[in-house]
Amino acid sequence: MGNISNTLSESVSKGSDLNKNNIGRASSAGSFYAKPESSVNEKVLQPHEKLASLKNIVNDSRIASQKSTTILPIEAISPYSNGFVLKVTCTRVGDIKTWSNSRGEGKLFWANFMDNSGEIRATGFNDEVDKFHSILKEGKTFLVSNCKVVVANKQFSNLKNDSELRFDRETTIEECDDADSKPQYKFDFVNIADINNVDTNSNIDVIGVLKEYFDVTSTTSKTTGRSFDRRDIILADKSGYTVRGTIWGKTAQDFNQESGTIIAIKGAKVSDFRGKNISVSSSSLFLVNPEIPEAYALRDWFNTGYKELELKDLSNMDGANTASAASKFETHRTTIDEVMGNPDVGKAEKGEYFTVVATVLMFKSETFAYPSCQSDNCNKKVIEDSDGRWRCERCDKSFDTPAYRYILNLNIADHTSHTWVTAFDDSARVLLDGTTADELTSLRDGDETAFRTIFHNNQGKEYVFRCRAKQEFYKDESKIRTQIMDAQPIDYLSEAKKLIENIGLF
Ligand SMILES: [Zn+2]
Repeated sequence: MGNISNTLSESVSKGSDLNKNNIGRASSAGSFYAKPESSVNEKVLQPHEKLASLKNIVNDSRIASQKSTTILPIEAISPYSNGFVLKVTCTRVGDIKTWSNSRGEGKLFWANFMDNSGEIRATGFNDEVDKFHSILKEGKTFLVSNCKVVVANKQFSNLKNDSELRFDRETTIEECDDADSKPQYKFDFVNIADINNVDTNSNIDVIGVLKEYFDVTSTTSKTTGRSFDRRDIILADKSGYTVRGTIWGKTAQDFNQESGTIIAIKGAKVSDFRGKNISVSSSSLFLVNPEIPEAYALRDWFNTGYKELELKDLSNMDGANTASAASKFETHRTTIDEVMGNPDVGKAEKGEYFTVVATVLMFKSETFAYPSCQSDNCNKKVIEDSDGRWRCERCDKSFDTPAYRYILNLNIADHTSHTWVTAFDDSARVLLDGTTADELTSLRDGDETAFRTIFHNNQGKEYVFRCRAKQEFYKDESKIRTQIMDAQPIDYLSEAKKLIENIGLF
């Protein structure tokens, strides 16, 4: 009997040594995954099979090795794979969804898995929901075996894998908490400056230092009418650029991080609205201070080379959205005199972008809006017909009423000079306390006092104006037209911080 028990413990420890070697090689050498077939001869027992195997060892040790299974890297899985074990980190667990139709009802959930070779989605239905949904935890490592492999449905998943897993009756999932079970992640990070060259709607991995974040706001989906909580965050990296990212729902509500935190996102969706932005979808992986080399490097940079004032913003380019154009038209704080006193101002084809802190001296109230087309995204001026209807020539349509849009001229001043600028609909509304051009037009025609009061009450207010000055020609005479691209009410706290930083530069 003594002999048998020696054999037993030897076999078990051999098994776990093999296991360690396998994982060790997997995580240290990238070439290991280039030739996944090289792992075929390294057999590793599934833990839940150990007991059964031990019984076999007593009878015939060769049977045990025949019955054991290989730990496969995710990237080696195809619809032809079977009988494999995955050692994976669970990066995301979806909520349980139920359905009900003429053919019956049921429920399902999905989970995303990752190892350092790749990522894969797994879906479980009905009984497997009950069995596995509560076991799988984000950030924990699991041994997953006996899954079916199917072709990925790209409509529901943004993971970079053409295969997906289905949990079925044979599937087993066990958490492993040995020393080798640190979360394993595989990222393919894109520098923030390079996001400019990424196609809109692509999914990318991004890592950055949290520069700042904004409050949670609620937005309503135009298509479903449902409302979502969202929060915008600004990430910076060594490329010297920042990008705006949007996080949603619970992630947005629970977000409670300091500036300087390292954030890694896998599967962020790229969008383009006045410059490139990223959005963190429900199946993106969102990690705070991940323990990966890229995060350590970024932390070093933040501690030594980070200069907030020199960062350029990728997400606010007003269409000048290439890295070179971005640096050319980069916004810097200046004064009205420095811009308007320059004889060459606005001669560049795209004009000159600048930012000033200035006060509204007065509005021109004689003309402040124009009647525009009601079609979506048209905004063209409409002309009143002889029958009292408003006609858009571009859309070839007539409307009972026009939609008024602002084209508001105002004079702004800072400590160096003053100048006339034009505000269009979005920024004019900010400057007039949210009053729309339609409302102001009907006040002008109905309540002269209220009309004057709106202008009067909004003079003397101070804003950070982002402007574009552009030289225009009219009958051989050149004139500088300055347009407000964006007007933000002064945030005295952040202004004071900026001043202190500026003082620190001298
Ligand atoms: Zn139109």
